[in-house]
Amino acid sequence: MIILVINAGSSSVKFTLFDMKDDKKVLATGLIERIGIEGTSMKYSNWKGEKSQGSVDVKNPKEAVKVISERLVDTKYGVIGALSEIKAVGHRIVHGGEKVNRPVRVTEEVKGILKDCFSMSPLHNPHNLAGIEACEGVLKGVPNVGVFDTAFHSTMPPRTFLYGIPYELYTKDQIRRYGFHGTSHAYVSRAAARFDGRPIEDLRIVSAHLGNGASITAVKGGKSYDTSMGLTPLEGVIMGTRSGDIDPAVIFHIMKIKGLSYQEVDNLLNKQSGVLGLAGIGSSDLRDIEEAANKGNKQCAQALDIYAYRIRKYIGAYLVALGGLDILVFTAGAGENSNTLRAAILEGLDGLGFKLDRARNDVRSSDIRVISTDDSPYKIMVVPTNEELAIAEFTSEVLAS
Ligand code: AMP
Repeated sequence: MIILVINAGSSSVKFTLFDMKDDKKVLATGLIERIGIEGTSMKYSNWKGEKSQGSVDVKNPKEAVKVISERLVDTKYGVIGALSEIKAVGHRIVHGGEKVNRPVRVTEEVKGILKDCFSMSPLHNPHNLAGIEACEGVLKGVPNVGVFDTAFHSTMPPRTFLYGIPYELYTKDQIRRYGFHGTSHAYVSRAAARFDGRPIEDLRIVSAHLGNGASITAVKGGKSYDTSMGLTPLEGVIMGTRSGDIDPAVIFHIMKIKGLSYQEVDNLLNKQSGVLGLAGIGSSDLRDIEEAANKGNKQCAQALDIYAYRIRKYIGAYLVALGGLDILVFTAGAGENSNTLRAAILEGLDGLGFKLDRARNDVRSSDIRVISTDDSPYKIMVVPTNEELAIAEFTSEVLAS
């Protein structure tokens, strides 16, 4: 079964075409970026190793999906004979609010739910919806499935999702913790359990998704029990450019002393904070910050220390929340690739049950692997995330049901 996965953002549309019957093979993948701005371009590669890159005339998501579709069937780079071979399109959708608790086939009602969440996810949901409508227009009759970042966290109990604010703000205005990166947390926790050979229902897993955005999730018996991101992705650990947890009064104080508007503070906390703001070298990429720290930049070393410490605190909190731990999972850009970050997070915790095997931790690999010692009470694993594949799998599950 051939499934197209679409991730439509503010100015880009990413796509991957999977053949689920042929070992979930990636037939083609790529993206169109700078949509609606000067210099729109497309990158494309297929399973035969053929690649193309160049400018395209694309002004909106519908034109993007049209160009992608044409490329998938063209005689030079194409990988399928006809678009009718695509059995479904799986869409990454950020916010589904409280009404969506699993991947679903997109209907008018689902689109309405997605719209209702615009105010909570103004930077993503409108573009996700545009991606769906583009596919409806171009790939007529092909079912669309929505895979929501928030859905995996719908199992959280009130004790973890309610904030200590007036209850009506929840009942009337739906203000609560929703959590994000759910597709990734679901995928890596399932993969970790499978690799470990134990049923996920028996496991307590802490999943640390450490990419440019970062979140930690406590997974109990395969279900999300608590997660560090909240109403929006701003809460939780320190990220590339987001502050993560701060005293909310800092916001009022900054507004007062700097005369900033709420949009300006929103921008400051989402786009200018995190390790970007702490390190002060104009980059949010941990590789640049690690390199500067290695060359003696003390502010960068301090930023990395704060970043690792905040993650360590969440891992400790979730270990207690879960009443113990079976597997700690590291995933996403930094979680998968930075041995120094993983070592910093777990430094000195051998006696507490996190026995990191230095040699295993230092191995660079794109495979799922255990990096704890054989006698470590808690198993520590690196599990490469694959949100596109997870979306394709969920999409075929929805079609089959
Ligand atoms: P993602 O959002 O999962 O694509 O992750 C991207 C981020 O992962 C980058 O901005 C880097 O901060 C981080 N990253 C990727 N590779 C490495 C690495 N080898 N060492 C440290 N950080 C890395």
